[in-house]
Amino acid sequence: MLKRFRLEEPGSVEEAAELLARYGESAKVYAGGTELLLAMKEGLIRYERLINIKQIPDLDQIKLGDGVLRIGALSTHRSLAGSAPLKERLPAFVRMEENVANIRVREVGTIGGNLCFAEPHADPGTLLLVLGAKLTAEKASARREIPIEKFFVGAYETCLEEDEILTGIEMPLAPARSSLAYLKFGYLERPSVGVAVFLALDGEGKSVTDARVAVGCVGPTPKRIEEAESLLKGKGLQDASQALGRAGEVAARASDAISDLHGSQDYKEHIVQVLLKRTFQQAYGRCQSGGESQGELHG
Ligand SMILES: Cc1cc2nc3c(=O)[nH]c(=O)nc-3n(C[C@H](O)[C@H](O)[C@H](O)COP(=O)(O)OP(=O)(O)OC[C@H]3O[C@@H](n4cnc5c(N)ncnc54)[C@H](O)[C@@H]3O)c2cc1C
Repeated sequence: MLKRFRLEEPGSVEEAAELLARYGESAKVYAGGTELLLAMKEGLIRYERLINIKQIPDLDQIKLGDGVLRIGALSTHRSLAGSAPLKERLPAFVRMEENVANIRVREVGTIGGNLCFAEPHADPGTLLLVLGAKLTAEKASARREIPIEKFFVGAYETCLEEDEILTGIEMPLAPARSSLAYLKFGYLERPSVGVAVFLALDGEGKSVTDARVAVGCVGPTPKRIEEAESLLKGKGLQDASQALGRAGEVAARASDAISDLHGSQDYKEHIVQVLLKRTFQQAYGRCQSGGESQGELHG
């Protein structure tokens, strides 16, 4: 049963942050409510006040400009999956969003809520890591940018201060001959393993000039795995594909996988290795075709 609470309806970020500062631990930001209300109904958490930020204008905008894509924190998964600028410039992000949760959650659940709740079995954080995203956090009198790799502190824990609101996410547009892929695996409601790969190739499409790898869902927070990246970076494609097995082992070991309802540590580490290979192949295929074809990399 949902216990009684007071609903505040601020009209600006400043007002919302002031309310958070005034009421401290007894208040919480309310966006789509898909996590918050569920946890409150279950009696896992209790707040006297919810600060509904959905009335604040412009926090749901998705904009392209100055070499970056800006996504408002209140953008729902559904709006992201249907966004024209994202379809044009970051189709892998669209595919990830199309497969978040179910239609009811996608309709109201926001990307800001997803990131701020920091539930380990989530998709966007892993993909944002290889995109080099920056998050904007605001409070009444200050605003700061947080690189995505600093945002997640632990399971259900971020670096946001009590009176800070996540207002947006900024991602640099990918250079030419680069591509992105994200694959997940799971048989429960939420993903058990997620792997993201960003690849850039040289002008002739023969060697890997940049490689970024991130693994999510298996441990407390999504992680960028630089040791695996360095095994792929600067290599000709044949060598890079041969190094994939080793990169997978390194990524699995460094992912901080834990045993839980989604599977044992060993099982998750195995899936990380399988997914890394497939994700790399997908990203490579898209790079080669300059678009979205699903080419295969053999070797
Ligand atoms: C059945 C189910 C299946 C799911 N499956 C998936 C899945 O496959 N993949 C996946 O990635 N996710 C999955 N999710 C998670 C889903 O993406 C999130 O529930 C949703 O995005 C949360 O957004 P919200 O707006 O509803 O957040 P809310 O419930 O409103 O808020 C969640 C938390 O974030 C805080 N918060 C929200 N917005 C802000 C902000 N702007 N600034 C500061 N704090 C904020 C709130 O105070 C609260 O603590 C699933 C959820 C459910 C219920």
